[in-house]
Amino acid sequence: MSDDAPPLREIRINPIVPNESVLVATARGMRPRKAEEPAPRDTRKHVETCPFCRGNEDKTPPTIAAYPDEQDWHIRIVENLYPVLGDNRDTSSLVFGLQQAMDGYGRHEVLVDHREHGIGIHEMSEAHLIMLFGAYRDRMEQLYASNPRLKYVLVFKNFGPAAGASIPHTHSQIIAMPVVPENVHNEVENSREHYRKHHRCIFCALIDEALTFEATIYDRESGAIRRKISVGQYVVERGRRFIAIKPFASRFEWEIHILPLVHQSDYLHVTQDDLQDFARVLKRTMARLDTVIGGAQYNFFLHSQPRGAEHADCGPSYHWHLEICPRTSIPTGFELGSGLFVSTISPEAAAARLRAVELPPESD
Ligand SMILES: [Zn+2]
Ligand SMILES: [Zn+2]
Ligand SMILES: [Zn+2]
Repeated sequence: MSDDAPPLREIRINPIVPNESVLVATARGMRPRKAEEPAPRDTRKHVETCPFCRGNEDKTPPTIAAYPDEQDWHIRIVENLYPVLGDNRDTSSLVFGLQQAMDGYGRHEVLVDHREHGIGIHEMSEAHLIMLFGAYRDRMEQLYASNPRLKYVLVFKNFGPAAGASIPHTHSQIIAMPVVPENVHNEVENSREHYRKHHRCIFCALIDEALTFEATIYDRESGAIRRKISVGQYVVERGRRFIAIKPFASRFEWEIHILPLVHQSDYLHVTQDDLQDFARVLKRTMARLDTVIGGAQYNFFLHSQPRGAEHADCGPSYHWHLEICPRTSIPTGFELGSGLFVSTISPEAAAARLRAVELPPESD
């Protein structure tokens, strides 16, 4: 959709989680959201007093794992100093919208993503990103194997003060828990229901739709063309094995999901070859985002098939993905109260702007 497209005002229902919806209102003046004060991110390479910078390893809890090795690490995993849940803590500080009462068993760990203090994902080499996402996979596997009571290992990253990162050094977190977070639970249940009715993975269906759907929507009264949906209009980046798409009903204006093109429910099944393509798609996607929104601050969440007997049958219906949620505005009272998110740019227009970014030639 070009910039002179007629203003859009419609409520879009998330096809995977129908009780999540977004009001797309692109008319000029529709600015119900308060723009985030641009909190500049810390781009320094090394900070003497930072516990995650090299030389300060003794200021953090002991190393659980390091890549490629502990002496010359590029990635380090340590216990979180302030865990939301631990081997024998109570549950009072749990804030994840979890489904049921639980005992507080779990693990909360921090990954120092890179030696360089303020480096962004789009500035890391593909080789480094392969190592990072391989570290996630290894640690998830070890944690699941460590205790059969664990139902979910959540990997996420808060990048930049607007995204809630309390420590400026680039890092991500791993929380292993005995329940499934509510948003993953909703995706798992709804996609299973979809599979029961249609014998198809809804994520695969959405990828197909993003790649091939073409339609013209006419105004019923005047017969004028209201909207043309053309091939690939939700696609931001496409690799051999992965695709980055702008969801049709995104909660966040610049939200992007990266999914494997071929159905795969469990992140633990990714191969090194998969990760190679994933790293390239991720780096290019983040570079596009950084160019378009400038100094992107974001959260990402890795969503994969949960453990436990009640989830054993969701292999054909669930499809793992990385959700990237840039923080460009603060939700308004209306959004928080109604649960209806407002987007002032249409996902089609957002995808077009991201696609239009000219990336530097690939070197690594
Ligand atoms: Zn640092
Ligand atoms: Zn699928
Ligand atoms: Zn998800």
